[in-house]
Amino acid sequence: MVVSAPLGLRFPPMTPDPNAGLDEIRLSFRAWLCEHQGSLEPFRSDDPGNLADSYARFRPLMRMLFDAGWTRLGWPESCGGLGGSPVQRAEVMEELAATGYIIPELYATTEIIAPMLIKYAPELAALHVAKAIAGDEVWCQGFSEPDAGSDLGSLRTRAVAEGDTFRVTGQKMWSSNGGIANWSCVLVRTGDAESRHRGLTMLWIDLSSPGVTVRPTACENGREEVAEVFLDDVIVPQNQLIGPVGAGWPVVMYLMQYERGAYAWKRQAELHSQLDELLGQASDSELRANASAIGAAYLAVFALRSQASPTLSTLASGRDLGPEISVDKLLLGATEQIITDTARQVLWPALELDDSDIGDSWRRAGRTPASRQSTAVPRKCNATWSANGSSASPEDGEHGRYGNGTCPRLDAAPRDQLPARRTGDPAA
Ligand SMILES: Cc1cc2nc3c(=O)[nH]c(=O)nc-3n(C[C@H](O)[C@H](O)[C@H](O)COP(=O)(O)OP(=O)(O)OC[C@H]3O[C@@H](n4cnc5c(N)ncnc54)[C@H](O)[C@@H]3O)c2cc1C
Repeated sequence: MVVSAPLGLRFPPMTPDPNAGLDEIRLSFRAWLCEHQGSLEPFRSDDPGNLADSYARFRPLMRMLFDAGWTRLGWPESCGGLGGSPVQRAEVMEELAATGYIIPELYATTEIIAPMLIKYAPELAALHVAKAIAGDEVWCQGFSEPDAGSDLGSLRTRAVAEGDTFRVTGQKMWSSNGGIANWSCVLVRTGDAESRHRGLTMLWIDLSSPGVTVRPTACENGREEVAEVFLDDVIVPQNQLIGPVGAGWPVVMYLMQYERGAYAWKRQAELHSQLDELLGQASDSELRANASAIGAAYLAVFALRSQASPTLSTLASGRDLGPEISVDKLLLGATEQIITDTARQVLWPALELDDSDIGDSWRRAGRTPASRQSTAVPRKCNATWSANGSSASPEDGEHGRYGNGTCPRLDAAPRDQLPARRTGDPAA
């Protein structure tokens, strides 16, 4: 839908319409970003400090996006969404990264866990999904154990039914965001010790329950991104079951599709922005000397995007994916490595020897180049409503962005004229 302004200009509405096409969503979202660029300025960089500070910093962004409706797109109305397609939300996420903002880390968790809650525990979804999208709740996954990682079917955390509750005892590890999480979906054994993957059940556990101890684990970058979770006689109500007793394996396999697919989509958006930032950090001679490596890195990101895009569409259509979705995961791992290796090569020796913000941020976080923080160019919205649909000027760069530190232009070319980042659209 396009509405007319008083001066006869035509512009997209700045509120999300779940019936809108992807072009319209993107343009409306850009317009909203421009409109709110003052309040959004703090969200152009992430301090690679501790996880709790990062959460506190991005919580207002999650609230803003929720209140404006953008992150409610594609979630069912039964759990606080606006309806529409998850692909619309994917468009919003990519546009957020493409306009130079950080995608809040916690969206990855919501994208992975919420579809499982919606399918297997709709009443829990109705209670929790909106809170997570708005940033009021943090979730984590409790699957891996000290002796059950790749071989998940050997896990030993046990849940014993007692009346209308379960008593849970065991230990989980590697829970991403575990140190700040309120809730965890925990895979437990309800069958006998030999039942392997047939004797598992998924529970939704309140991490403030008596008997829960969370011990954050520092990763190599110093950030406590994961945690061990100890469960000692934790009482969990039966109504916090996710799926039937004994059906934990199909439930976790359903979740894994989103872990591999939706997460890869988010990361490709971020990796593309990282590469763009790298171009801004390198000198002309560094760029010339490393042109083929940079080209290969962009190709890797486009390949990842082309893989993740049909995955998103398939999941959005309600179809399940089998082992082929592992390709997304492998491609993501390889692409992340390529981007970091390219930065190391182009900025040599900054990543090894340099104490500058740029070297430090690539080493510590890898995803938040410091130039977003240190740019001398004030980010001023120079966008103009277009009466004639003319395209962005060449100096705005790819899809009218950010090399010049300005807000994206609202009169950017329509999707079919956009350059390569727009190929392999999730709508395809
Ligand atoms: C940053 C990070 C975040 C994570 N977040 C979470 C989370 O939120 N929730 C969660 O539950 N887990 C999480 N994990 C855990 C992750 O999924 C585990 O690394 C995984 O479960 C592997 O377990 P492991 O580390 O014990 O390795 P192991 O299972 O001991 O495997 C060690 C090596 O042996 C190989 N191997 C194992 N079995 C076989 C086999 N049968 N054949 C061939 N090779 C084999 C593996 O490929 C690997 O190379 C996270 C891990 C990391 C690093």
